[in-house]
Amino acid sequence: MVRKIIVLNPDYNLDQLTLSQVLPWGVIIKSLPIINALVVKVRKKAALTALANEPWVQRVDDDCRITAVSEGEPAAERESELNPQAQALPWGIKRIKANLAWPLSAGAKVKVAIVDTGIDRKHKDLKVVGGVNTVNHGKTFHDDNGHGTHVAGIVAALNNSLGVVGVAPKALLYGVKVLNKYGSGYLSDVIEGLQWCINHKMRVINMSLGTPFDYPSFYAAIVKVAQAGITMVAAAGNSGCSGDTVIYPAKYPQVIAVTAIAQNDSFAYFSSCGPSVDLTAPGVNIYSTYKGNSYAYMSGTSMATPHVTGTCALVLARKSLNPTQMITHLKKQAELLPGLNSDQQGAGLVNALAAVKNL
Ligand code: CA
Repeated sequence: MVRKIIVLNPDYNLDQLTLSQVLPWGVIIKSLPIINALVVKVRKKAALTALANEPWVQRVDDDCRITAVSEGEPAAERESELNPQAQALPWGIKRIKANLAWPLSAGAKVKVAIVDTGIDRKHKDLKVVGGVNTVNHGKTFHDDNGHGTHVAGIVAALNNSLGVVGVAPKALLYGVKVLNKYGSGYLSDVIEGLQWCINHKMRVINMSLGTPFDYPSFYAAIVKVAQAGITMVAAAGNSGCSGDTVIYPAKYPQVIAVTAIAQNDSFAYFSSCGPSVDLTAPGVNIYSTYKGNSYAYMSGTSMATPHVTGTCALVLARKSLNPTQMITHLKKQAELLPGLNSDQQGAGLVNALAAVKNL
């Protein structure tokens, strides 16, 4: 049995298709209406050519694996930072001037989807409004990995007396669990998550995940999300900077591609780079929320991405921009870093204060 995404001919829609047309080929796992496709466990690999020749079939795609983009293992909090009386202002939040933007906007009422490993719903420093689990239907979106919770905290950890604070502490967090506890998921589960984001009217989507390969079904789904007016932000990847190493979906023009810098404004050694990069953001030794109501340091373009996502939430609370307008606006307001080339930083370091002020 092999998992495939079967894209229907435009003349056919999912309602017209009868089970007797599909069952000879395999078992239906789920349907993906936004790309007019079915996910099927196909019985025999040898039958794929014949399946592709069926009149109702336009294309058969691999249901590949998509992975979270983190670098190394998370490090627990340092003793010196264990101060229950105080909330730390993580260096990344300060570097992009997010805290200076809060008098103008803290991202209130903006729905932000974290398409990832889920979110720790019981974390005391996060307010999680809702979510879905596309990996395991019927299960909650609770984070059994930690990656999604870390990303969520960078976007919107609460401004209180605990732990950390995020870029947009009043944004509404939604946990869209598309990756399993190992940080890996099927492309079809990611697409189903994006479908959920459209149906539940998310305003911005964070994707700290990706694949080095360009799958037509992934691109088709990204186009639908952009057409729905939802801004998408994704990690450029942790493949290093040698040639064009940006992964998908960051590489698609509809998605804001984010690289990572360290605390001294140097380019992160692990970060991917390339002509499709839009912005850079802090991504080394980032302190944020973690599963089990805890905190941890993590590094990766996964951690840079939510700095931009949070900035989108700050902007959207003040003014509705479509995805194209958002990309143009954030790039125009970015801070160009002298030590990095354009493949490394795109238009520069995301600047939350300028993005909110100059609307
Ligand atoms: Ca806090």
